[in-house]
Amino acid sequence: MAVKKKAPAKKAVKKVATKQAPLFKKMALIGLGHIGSSIAWAAKKNGLVGEIVGTARTAATRATAKKLGFIDSAVGDPAKAVKGADLVVVCVPVGACKAVAQAIGPHLAPGAIVTDVGSVKQTVIKDMAPFLPKGVHFVPGHPLAGTENSGPTSGFAELFEGRWTILTPLKGGDAKATAKLRAFWEGIGSNVDVMDAAHHDRVLAITSHLPHLIAFTIVGTATELEKHLRGEVIKYAASGFRDFTRIAASDPVMWRDIFLNNKEAVLEMLGRLNEDLSAMQRAIRWNQGDKLQKKFAKTREIRRSIVKAGQA
Ligand code: NAP
Repeated sequence: MAVKKKAPAKKAVKKVATKQAPLFKKMALIGLGHIGSSIAWAAKKNGLVGEIVGTARTAATRATAKKLGFIDSAVGDPAKAVKGADLVVVCVPVGACKAVAQAIGPHLAPGAIVTDVGSVKQTVIKDMAPFLPKGVHFVPGHPLAGTENSGPTSGFAELFEGRWTILTPLKGGDAKATAKLRAFWEGIGSNVDVMDAAHHDRVLAITSHLPHLIAFTIVGTATELEKHLRGEVIKYAASGFRDFTRIAASDPVMWRDIFLNNKEAVLEMLGRLNEDLSAMQRAIRWNQGDKLQKKFAKTREIRRSIVKAGQA
């Protein structure tokens, strides 16, 4: 039987007092899920945009966004959403970026800044850039923040606070547009770094994509165990498995697109991991306790430095 979901109540936005005019007059959000809704809440809270118009693929998401109150208006057509917007933020799965760029390209206002939040940068640039007209500034981006949840009800204003956002401006792009977008991300509490898209994709392959692949795989392995073992995996999940299940609960479409679009870097890192796993296997087989202990001491240090950097 289908369970009827209660309509979400409108949330109150606590605004941070700002005397200055908003950084952008009108922000168009294409995609109103976890990241899109969090950006909207954060931009509202910090008074960074005058008006937010949102669009999503389904009427249900648009209605939820409007009801929750993180957008001022909702339209079904992305081309309509970007009309007169000086900031356009594309928050859809990486594989959907090309179609979005194709749809909005002819309708963008001259001088507008177009950015995205995709977890892979090289293919998004290849897919979107050809459809964005001259005079529009394309500054790709990626906030390194998020939870395993998705959809318009999962966003919150504080998601980006103290976390990194990476901008990967195009060669020869407008430096002022990058600076303005940086100010936007900093305005919602994020630290900002600028780097080359190829470098971004390699860094993310090891820091995010490979860990997710491991989680998806290990949880898959566990679910394919014999029935009696499977039950115990759930019962005793606290002993390590639980953390993997949280990561492996991430959105399937988003992650499908990430692996298919960052294939080269992920396969390179996977190759290295396989070699290191074989070394571990050998150390266990040959009772090389010292080797194992040294390795674990090193990894413990990595964890401690992440905690020290405030990114735990
Ligand atoms: P999400 O919660 O699933 O939201 C995705 C949004 O995109 C929804 O509004 C959805 O509309 C819309 N959409 C989905 N497929 C579409 C299509 N084919 N055409 C047009 N619109 C489509 O996803 P999210 O977590 O916000 O992720 C969005 C982007 O942020 C992805 O590119 C991801 O790589 C990136 N990102 C995610 C995280 C994270 O932890 N979640 C972190 C950093 C970056 P409907 O709801 O109407 O279907």
